[in-house]
Amino acid sequence: MRGGDALPMCPTCGSPPAARAGEGLSQIYCRQCCQRANRHGSHFKTTYPAATLRPYRHAAQRFLRAHLLDTWIVHALHALAALMDHAGPVERVVDVYRLPPADKARAALARMRRREVPPERLLVNYLAVCCAIATDPISPGSETANYRRVQAAKVCARTAASNDGYYSDRLKNERYARSTGQALVHLGRWLEEACEHVETAHLAAILELARAGTTAAPSQRTDHTSE
Ligand SMILES: [Zn+2]
Repeated sequence: MRGGDALPMCPTCGSPPAARAGEGLSQIYCRQCCQRANRHGSHFKTTYPAATLRPYRHAAQRFLRAHLLDTWIVHALHALAALMDHAGPVERVVDVYRLPPADKARAALARMRRREVPPERLLVNYLAVCCAIATDPISPGSETANYRRVQAAKVCARTAASNDGYYSDRLKNERYARSTGQALVHLGRWLEEACEHVETAHLAAILELARAGTTAAPSQRTDHTSE
């Protein structure tokens, strides 16, 4: 890749683009911003902390509990359950590193199935990410779709990120591959396909619930593990 055709500077941080600096192929962004996009889904935004998502997660939980028979919600929960059911076998830790991105995403869904992660938690996480993006004063702009997919995939993958000692003592502390790369885009797209109708139909109502600040009593909160 010719560095001479690259932009004079990265539009995000002002460093030389990767191609110009001889550190990669991008003629627009520097190496650091490319890595940020790989890990977080945006060239200039990082991952939402749990504290940012928490009020939206609680609002989404309250909304789901009150509308369990809603057509879109029922459809989304079935679709999420089917995603996990058809994700194939749980891969060994050492194998996941060598899988192509789509298979890495599938392996993450298989781990969620082994962990018995309820589909409701995935839907709540997806809706919380949508709420956070909708109310974020710094919009991801043209990267919104990709950022939403990656953020939703990260927060859902976090529900089953360890191998839980399913293998021998020697392997029990080994970690699955870092939460980054195209696997998150694949996983996020599948989650989006399952949940997008709930977002379209009900996001405004969930945002209103969150805005009203009607935080549920601590005894009603059930989703602690994914935080
Ligand atoms: Zn940059």
